[in-house]
Amino acid sequence: SQMSRIAYVNGQYREMRDASVNIEDRGYQFSDGVYEVCEIRDGRMVDLPRHLARLQRSLHELRIDMPMSLAALEVVMHEVVRRNRIGYGIVYLQITRGVARRDHAFPTTPVRPAVVVTARSLSFQKNQDTAARGIGVITVPENRWPRVDIKSVSLLPNVLAKQQAREAGAYEAWFVDRDGFVTEGSSSNAWIVTGEGRVVTRSADEGILAGITRAVLIEVLAALQISLEERPFTPEEAYGAAEAFVTASSQIVMPVVRIDGRPIGDGTPGPIASRLREEFHRFAAFS
Ligand code: PMP
Repeated sequence: SQMSRIAYVNGQYREMRDASVNIEDRGYQFSDGVYEVCEIRDGRMVDLPRHLARLQRSLHELRIDMPMSLAALEVVMHEVVRRNRIGYGIVYLQITRGVARRDHAFPTTPVRPAVVVTARSLSFQKNQDTAARGIGVITVPENRWPRVDIKSVSLLPNVLAKQQAREAGAYEAWFVDRDGFVTEGSSSNAWIVTGEGRVVTRSADEGILAGITRAVLIEVLAALQISLEERPFTPEEAYGAAEAFVTASSQIVMPVVRIDGRPIGDGTPGPIASRLREEFHRFAAFS
């Protein structure tokens, strides 16, 4: 029988069908909130301290108060993973500014930010199979606001880009800025490998979310003595690259074998991407 899923909603653990928020929650009305996604492996959260640090930063940038201590939040996340008996999957955390009569400006009398935590199992084998095949990517014009460094739940351009990829038979869309450079994927960071075996990804200074997988992978590269260039690249450079891949917490390193219909390298997952995928968790922190 199907085990019912449990969500944490504002202080309570509830069955999914009873888990709901107020329709005047500012997350629902204005996308006025932030989120994090952590990978779960063997029932443990991957790189949780880094995710919580980024969460704090996102909240700070939006001037949303942290409604509970980080320690308490960590307990809740563990509890949601445990109650849903997740071995492999993801845990999702969302904090919104809270419930108030609809008005664009912040509530004048302070409200308590709303906290939701959910978790779900993913198929490890399915993910491995996708990585073994590699994925297709399309490029689309960058149309997001400049504050993509904030991990906000306001994801409309990302949603439309991902759907466009789906309809083109691809898995991810890479945004291309007005100067002709790839910024990042709709839900991942973008990477290529040059013919000389140098790994290239855009600097986290501007135009991208500072991915946690990206940050850890940079440490993996240093440990494996693979050289890194933090600089932007164009779709044209990517078409001619030896390899390409994307990173995200739910996918770790996912090889890209096709961009805008053009095969990358020999059209199969590259050796560096595959190696990085295998080595990643030796360098990850488990909670
Ligand atoms: N960029 C965007 C726009 C994303 O949505 C994500 C995944 N949440 C990433 C990059 C990758 O970040 P992370 O490695 O922290 O999951």
